[in-house]
Amino acid sequence: MYSLITIMKSYLIILTVFCISIIKTNAQSYNTFYGGIVTNCSYDSIEQHLIDFENLGIKEPGTAALNNTLDWLISHYQSYGYTDIIIDTFTYNGNEVYNLIITKTGTHYPNTYFVLDGHYDTKTGTGTNDNGSGTSIILETARLMKNVDTKFSVKFIHFSMEEVGLVGSTHYVNNIAFPNGMDIKLLFNIDEVGGVNGMVNNTIVCERDQANPTAANDASWAYTDTLATCVELYSNLFTTISYAYASDYMPFQAKDYVITGLFEDHYSPYAHTLGDSLGNMDIPYVFEIAKGTIGASLYFAEAYETTGIEELNENNFSIYPNPAKDILTIKAENNQFPTTVKLINAIGEIVISETITSNIKLIDVKNLPAGIYYLAIEDKINTQYKKIIISN
Ligand SMILES: [Zn+2]
Repeated sequence: MYSLITIMKSYLIILTVFCISIIKTNAQSYNTFYGGIVTNCSYDSIEQHLIDFENLGIKEPGTAALNNTLDWLISHYQSYGYTDIIIDTFTYNGNEVYNLIITKTGTHYPNTYFVLDGHYDTKTGTGTNDNGSGTSIILETARLMKNVDTKFSVKFIHFSMEEVGLVGSTHYVNNIAFPNGMDIKLLFNIDEVGGVNGMVNNTIVCERDQANPTAANDASWAYTDTLATCVELYSNLFTTISYAYASDYMPFQAKDYVITGLFEDHYSPYAHTLGDSLGNMDIPYVFEIAKGTIGASLYFAEAYETTGIEELNENNFSIYPNPAKDILTIKAENNQFPTTVKLINAIGEIVISETITSNIKLIDVKNLPAGIYYLAIEDKINTQYKKIIISN
């Protein structure tokens, strides 16, 4: 957030109270494929991102901290396997500054984008909440979406110079997105979602477009309702609806792009001070928001399970129990071994790989996170798959 516009806020709160949303998108229901991916959201990753972000220092224009944070972001995307990483350079007060744009190409609509964005510059303090929180969540979402097919293309954008007046996002919209007719299905902005230590942080504000121009407002309201539903499906949070203001979605809003966003329910008193630190935040709250964001992003980008896999021929192998809790038994009925068995998690990582050399193989799964997995049984000729649920 870069400022508070008090008069406009009061006016809009009155509007919010009297406007009851009647625009609803299709009813959402829990998607087990998305839920399996959300299960892999890592509390430790979120916490480590926040610690790193704080240690990087005060990220104001012209500081080494700002550039070091850019490098830190890039190294994460590289480690996740992203290759389409673009630095968008612009100038602020004589300083070269940089937006960072990572693109994942969609399988059905490669030229239409779902954009997940947040700023990484800070004001006065290290900005661990504003906006280390959003930055951490975007990184974790990108990590988990890397190997998931999405029908729409996805851009993860980390804007700079938000705190000095939405300069980075304005630059991007006015020089790149709008002049090139970029087709943005939805821009989802996350800014300051860290919560306040010592308070009950159990609600997240979902923000919609209530400003002029109004051409995209109906769509924004509908997407924001969907966002709220997804957050409630994939996290333990409650949601409330309010209006978008004073963050990087507004330059997009001004060009009639469809926007939505998240903001903390208890407005931190530490924003833009030296007290904006991890100790004054609520890390479990950020973790829950990350889960909601991942579920919503999978939905908005239309992620889908990879098809074309060959189902296991159950005459050749018996796999039980399923769901499995401690031990998964694989019994080869036709003496087709040696073969290799692999257990693959929802984001395509091989978590167990073993060789079958006799007709019974027991696999210890009790230390695996609960979720959906694929068991791949490979012999010299082909690979067969079976969906396995690990419970605990
Ligand atoms: Zn902010």
